[in-house]
Amino acid sequence: MATKEDFYKILNVDRNASDAEIKKSYRSLAMKHHPDRNADNPEAAEVKFKEIKEAYEILSDPKKRAAYDQFGHAGVDPSMGGGRGAGAGDFGDIFGDIFGDKFGDMFGGGRRSGGQQSGQRGSDLRYNLEISLEEAVAGTEQKIRIPVLVTCDVCSGSGAKKGSSPTTCSMCHGHGQVRMQQGFFTVQQTCPTCRGTGKQIKDPCGKCYGQGRVKDDKTLSAKIPAGVDTGDRIRLSGEGEAGQYGAPSGDLYIEIHVRKHAIFNRDGANLSCEVPISFITACLGGEIEVPTLDGKVLLKIPAETQTGKSFRLRGKGVKPVRGGAIGDLICKVQIETPVNLTTEQKALVEKLGESLTHSGKHHSPQESSWIDGVKNFFDKLTG
Ligand SMILES: [Zn+2]
Ligand SMILES: [Zn+2]
Repeated sequence: MATKEDFYKILNVDRNASDAEIKKSYRSLAMKHHPDRNADNPEAAEVKFKEIKEAYEILSDPKKRAAYDQFGHAGVDPSMGGGRGAGAGDFGDIFGDIFGDKFGDMFGGGRRSGGQQSGQRGSDLRYNLEISLEEAVAGTEQKIRIPVLVTCDVCSGSGAKKGSSPTTCSMCHGHGQVRMQQGFFTVQQTCPTCRGTGKQIKDPCGKCYGQGRVKDDKTLSAKIPAGVDTGDRIRLSGEGEAGQYGAPSGDLYIEIHVRKHAIFNRDGANLSCEVPISFITACLGGEIEVPTLDGKVLLKIPAETQTGKSFRLRGKGVKPVRGGAIGDLICKVQIETPVNLTTEQKALVEKLGESLTHSGKHHSPQESSWIDGVKNFFDKLTG
């Protein structure tokens, strides 16, 4: 049996590393060596990736880690009984683990379609879509136009001229890899003749010049679900760039950007707005009309309302796209000082002022504590 490298060394942590440190290091190494991210040398990456996964499987399990610490590889080797081999675990599941729920979807599904792929999978594309708040709340369907590489319709993606077909590469005999002698070693390299595709095109297609793909604009209809918010992404599977030589297409991610609204601000499921009310309504109370996304509603203002007070209209917010309760609309009132007063109105206000001053009652709830605060402040300065 070949000597195995130390698991701690593989994960680049020291022997008394915490579980969290091990997990962190494992994640970054798994990302770095994931075969999908090492297209130039996927085989080597796969070997390294499995090694990392195996080391993590042991060191993340307290029992196996203890056995490993005590007996080394013999303590955890599956051929010695006990322990689970690293096996050829699916790469998809591990990616789900790395990115969690939110990003799992971004990398999951449709990655490895299995079997030998002669061309490269098409790139994923991102499209920034700006929509109004109303559209975000109610959902919308939008036509979007995206420039993409699509499968060439003349050669159906083969890259070969009509009537001909690609031939097996004469250098690598279709393997896509060639063995090269370097000193004492034999190394495997991507075939320079066919660039790894295993095929040669003697008579290239006149439209795509042998690429199998052409640039085009494609119009798509994108259904945006109700409740989306800025930063949400919607995946249209297979609507990204066409793959090379018939390989699967990439995905299209529509990233939502909600435009600023003239009246409402959004904070998750809640909406908020500022509502001006008159000085009279604030004093005596009353009903005012406030806007909501589905029409006007009446809001009761109690007597003696102070400026800046917020009123909550339950269920007048947004229904979140991921489910959950509909949010609220929070109306913050701003009391307006009357302007353009006539002489008569000014006299009335003056009269009101006198009456308030001489009534012997307390009329300004904030003022007295504010005056005390100011006095304390000056006392501290001079004292
Ligand atoms: Zn073509
Ligand atoms: Zn070749």
